[in-house]
Amino acid sequence: MREQSAAHEAEAGGGCPVPRRKISILGSTGSIGTQTLEVVRNNGDIQVTALAAGSNTELLEKQIREFKPSLACVWDEEKAGQLKLSVADLPVRVVSGMEGLLEAAREKEAHMVVTAVVGMIGIRPTIAAMEAGKDIALANKETLVTAGHIIMPLAKERGVRILPVDSEHSAIFQCLNGEDGRRIHKLLLTASGGPFRGRRLEELEGVQVEDALKHPNWSMGRKITIDSSTMVNKGLEVMEARWLFGVEIDQIQVVIQPKSVIHSMVEFEDGAVMAQLGTPDMKLPIQYALYYPERRFLPGERLDFWTLGQIVFEKPDFDTFRGLRLACEAGRRGGSLPVVFNAANEYAVNEFLNRRIPYLGIVEMIEKAMGSHQVVENPTVDQILEAERETRELLGGGR
Ligand code: NDP
Ligand code: MG
Repeated sequence: MREQSAAHEAEAGGGCPVPRRKISILGSTGSIGTQTLEVVRNNGDIQVTALAAGSNTELLEKQIREFKPSLACVWDEEKAGQLKLSVADLPVRVVSGMEGLLEAAREKEAHMVVTAVVGMIGIRPTIAAMEAGKDIALANKETLVTAGHIIMPLAKERGVRILPVDSEHSAIFQCLNGEDGRRIHKLLLTASGGPFRGRRLEELEGVQVEDALKHPNWSMGRKITIDSSTMVNKGLEVMEARWLFGVEIDQIQVVIQPKSVIHSMVEFEDGAVMAQLGTPDMKLPIQYALYYPERRFLPGERLDFWTLGQIVFEKPDFDTFRGLRLACEAGRRGGSLPVVFNAANEYAVNEFLNRRIPYLGIVEMIEKAMGSHQVVENPTVDQILEAERETRELLGGGR
């Protein structure tokens, strides 16, 4: 990777105003996508080569006008057609659907692709970007959870870096700077506990969409906010960490730290524990991934330990938040079981957000899907997508 960094420097050398870094962003209109563009705007030396969104063409058009990518993708074909007309005055090509998303992932100028789409839809574009030699700034955790056994070896084979954007994984990554990853004894993955921390299971029966969307510390997309309330998000992060840092599931301990001040920790073999702390602001891990290994100034609030006073820790309640327990089980068993865990959760969260199932129906669906699945070892991408389809079919006739 040193070679590629050197290439970036060379481009910027001799007072030439060519931007040093070129990135494409998949999911540019979402929470991570817009914050990535904020980081780009604040720094002023990154060129955006491609942007992709689902259907929010209004925001995408604004982004195209400001950041001037050469390629833009909208999943929805009809909306892509409308966007094409409204940006006809600009030198941008508009594409759509999975083919378009793959094209955006492979856009030839980019050095790095920020994967900020939500859900398993990220698998194929992430692989396409890596095959095209791009480094990945990875926010889309569902891809690693379901296809980590394909993604990690592929990164090695292609010599591309996977830089974590998820705050916990960025924290661990930062704690491992200059360390030997083989000397990890344990990863301590911190969790806020979400809006329902301290509640008993029966108290969660009547939870409404609005209640679950109130995260105490972080402002994020809807799906991950629901996942945080069920602690399924932490379960997905356990599986994500397992792939990123090459540890066993049982080397990962989830620790509740309600204020989200410590973003995660690493315990080494000699008992030393390293932690990364900061205010809860996703722009820090995003910027760290974009400029790694360089640190840059980031405007915003700083931790004030005099005001903070104390940092409190708790053990997670695995009975109330059964999704976390099931995630660890799925991760431990491996094969296609994490795919089913994730696919069932994606399906169920969408059902809950559309008010078609009760809150506790989310974990019930995950349990049902995991219970009826025949595990496939080392699933291929096709088998992963097939397991996803089967899960959706089992839970709702493929809706
Ligand atoms: P959002 O829901 O806010 O954004 C999702 C983005 O993906 C939007 O730009 C959306 O477009 C786009 N998108 C959805 N479907 C498609 C599609 N089929 N093709 C192309 N683009 C699509 O999600 P977040 O930003 O919160 O999360 C993104 C990922 O990052 C998730 O995997 C999440 O787990 C992870 N993450 C998020 C964190 C956060 O703080 N938000 C923290 C850590 C990880 P449109 O707007 O048009 O629908
Ligand atoms: Mg996280």
